[in-house]
This record gives sequence, C-alpha cells and structure tokens, in this order.
Amino acid sequence: MSEESLDEFCPECNMQVSARVIYSGHGSPSQKDVLLDESDSRYETELYSVALCTRCESPFLLKQTYCEVPGEFVTLVSQELLYPKPSNLPIGNAPEPVIRAYRQAASCFRSSSFEASALMCRRSLEALCKHLSAKGDNLKTKLNSLAEQGVIY
Ligand SMILES: [Zn+2]
Repeated sequence: MSEESLDEFCPECNMQVSARVIYSGHGSPSQKDVLLDESDSRYETELYSVALCTRCESPFLLKQTYCEVPGEFVTLVSQELLYPKPSNLPIGNAPEPVIRAYRQAASCFRSSSFEASALMCRRSLEALCKHLSAKGDNLKTKLNSLAEQGVIY
C-alpha cells in the first residue's frame, strides 16, 4: 500500500515540506447538474484530508473538490488548504495595488523565494507612497516625507 503525501508550506519548519496523509474522508456526493439521462449527470465530491509534516508533525487540513460523471471521468477542480491559514497582516482596507504587491510578497516568502519577496515588499511600499502622494525622488525620501507629515510613524 502506497502512502499519499502532499507538498505544503509548513509555518513551523518555515519551508516547503512533504506532509504524510494520515486520514481522508468525504460525505455523499452532491448532484450538480441533473440531466434527463441520469448517466450523464455531474456530481461534486469534497474530500477532506488530514496530513502531518514529515519534519515536525504539524497538522494540515486540506479540502479537495472533485467533479465526476459516473463511468466517464473524475477530475480535481479545486484544492484549498483550510489549516494552517497563510499568515497575512490585516491590510484589508489598504489600496488594491498595495494589497496585490503584499500578497505576492507573502506568496514568494511561503515558497522560500526570499529575494523576490523582498522586492515585492518594496513594491508594496512604493504603491503606498504613490497612493499617499509622497514627495521625493526615491523610496527613502518618500518614506521620510510621509514620516515628517505624520502620515506614518
Ligand atoms: Zn513542519
């Protein structure tokens, strides 16, 4: 019997790891499209898996949604990591360009692309300076001007 594993970012190990699936289960499939010929009806099944990091034993909970036409095909349509949630700072009411750059920075960090993450953090700060109409020729002078105005601390 082969063991199933997942590749996930472990926040405890701070790196991409292999996680060993210890349990998987699902409920009854839900019928999405009911056609006249029932053999062509489409079903969706949600499969939940609990896995453990092979380095530190930290748990993961993954939800996978499969679409099936019985007797024809089964395909994975979406996959979502329910636990642990990616740790992001609460910047929900920041301007869209700031949020977009910050999310890319966090994504790069989670995949251990630290240089790319630092560059996207800088882009996020530049977007914030532009949004706040900061004065200056470079990022340092723009941030200093915002601090002098009391906009940032
Ligand atoms: Zn780990």
